[in-house]
Amino acid sequence: MEISNDLFEQAKKTIPGGVNSPVRAFRSVGGSPFFTKRADGAYLYTSDDQRLIDYVCTWGPAILGHNQPVIKEAISRALEQGTSFGTPNPYEVEMAELICELVPSVEKVRMCNSGTEATMSSIRLARGYTGRDKIIKFAGCYHGHVDSLLVKAGSGALTLGNPDSAGIPDSFARETIVLNYNDSESLKQTFANQGDQIAAVILEPYPANCGLIFPKNNFLQLAVDLCKENGSVSIFDEVMTGFRVSLGGVQEHVNIIPDMTALGKIIGGGLPVGAFGGRKEIMDHLAPLGPVYQAGTLSGNPLAMAAGIAALKMLQSTNPYKDLNCMGRKIKNSILQAAAEKGVALQVPQVGSMFAIFFNENPVENFDHAIRSDVDSFKKVFQYSIKNGVYIAPSAFETCFISTCHAGDPVDISSQVLGDAIKNL
Ligand SMILES: *Cc1c(COP(=O)(O)O)cnc(C)c1O
Repeated sequence: MEISNDLFEQAKKTIPGGVNSPVRAFRSVGGSPFFTKRADGAYLYTSDDQRLIDYVCTWGPAILGHNQPVIKEAISRALEQGTSFGTPNPYEVEMAELICELVPSVEKVRMCNSGTEATMSSIRLARGYTGRDKIIKFAGCYHGHVDSLLVKAGSGALTLGNPDSAGIPDSFARETIVLNYNDSESLKQTFANQGDQIAAVILEPYPANCGLIFPKNNFLQLAVDLCKENGSVSIFDEVMTGFRVSLGGVQEHVNIIPDMTALGKIIGGGLPVGAFGGRKEIMDHLAPLGPVYQAGTLSGNPLAMAAGIAALKMLQSTNPYKDLNCMGRKIKNSILQAAAEKGVALQVPQVGSMFAIFFNENPVENFDHAIRSDVDSFKKVFQYSIKNGVYIAPSAFETCFISTCHAGDPVDISSQVLGDAIKNL
């Protein structure tokens, strides 16, 4: 497809880089980003009237497809009653009860406005609760643009080539210990050396911000157990995987229960929402009960809660996870088959409605493996696909998402296009 540059050129005059979030700028796949004027079901409609089958799904939230009628209806009903109250509202209670019911680790929950706020507040709470400063994170895991977590943080930073952002004091970064994902030995060693200083271990249970990586050798259980033994807080960042891999996230999928969980994306039904929750005993350290301050003028916003509740209830009643997994498999298999025919070495990690493509001869188990993938082939596949109406994530280090609206034609057509893209390499 042809992309007209006029709007992007105009945007660059008043918005840094023309975008409000860096990955949108298409730096890592070349060319200019398209602008979307409308989205419906599995499709994006660009400002120059192209229709694209969308595998970015607003970077995860749109699991029920774009412009979902039930969610829209819930927002309109809430809208009639006013947009923000600044007092507690009934939606907040319903949302909290729903999250506690669905997410195994969550006994109490606090709403916020983004995934970044959720992880930032989880870290502060873990520090306040333990009275310790150090945190462990893993290379390639992205936890939002929180100062102390923006170290070796995966796609956004990775594709721009500055993994450590300017503007973060060394003294902050020094409190963050970065280890390799799936490296059980170094995790054990770090706890053996300084376990009494570690406030928290934060991780993506399925890292999905440097492609898609899976834990091996019981890595998640080890992290949770080491935290328990050392009085540290285990935090699963399920902003991406929550309500995506299964209703209760990865923790339910693999039955490993952390102390705390950060949520975002799907939980807002397409509006800006985050949440963090966990064991009562920890959560009760938050103000106004406890000494850890955390707040938000628009937190628990009625429109956002109405949208999120509608999305979660719909996922609960329709339970689309098996169907989504079938679609994921179909796409994976057609990519693998095309690669076999063409003789191209690649990996297609896939779970449910998430998949990624690594042009790599070996399975990708950590960040170092991921960045050794062939980015050039990815760019070619991206460009071929978008020319043929299929929009996959515009970076070799992002995950693609499928929605319930992709069933039928969109998945069939995309499987064909992605296979052709590989054969065309
Ligand atoms: C997207 C994401 C975040 C940040 O959420 P925002 O709403 O963009 O602030 C944090 N953690 C993970 C795992 C994410 O995928």
